[in-house]
Amino acid sequence: MPVVKISVNVVNQMIEHSLIESPLECCGLLMGDSQKITQLWKTENVAKSPIRFEIEPKELLTFSRYIEKCKLKHLGIYHSHPSSEAYPSQTDIAQAHYPECAYFIISLLGPTEPNIRAFTIIQQIVQEKLIQRF
Ligand SMILES: [Zn+2]
Repeated sequence: MPVVKISVNVVNQMIEHSLIESPLECCGLLMGDSQKITQLWKTENVAKSPIRFEIEPKELLTFSRYIEKCKLKHLGIYHSHPSSEAYPSQTDIAQAHYPECAYFIISLLGPTEPNIRAFTIIQQIVQEKLIQRF
């Protein structure tokens, strides 16, 4: 399984964001150097929905300018599933336009800790990535 490296700090921020927005889905963008995710950029879920998310194009543009200025790379996108498992929905698959990104999903379905999984979605094909925290 391909590996995606992400800092523990970013993982904790994704969990916190998911819990704050629940029962609605939260979403955001992930960046870092070459292959390591070191920073998170929270975005608003303009869909304000418990079952899907949408990031405003304007915010994506602001993000792109920021990472270019800081010489960072766009490595991932995260969102939460407040009441379903940590696997891409049909909508997630249909709307996945970043083949180079890891799609992180934080599921709050379980009674204990949130479950986090990561995937690449390339031409509607979902492949899981092993999350390596550092
Ligand atoms: Zn989803």
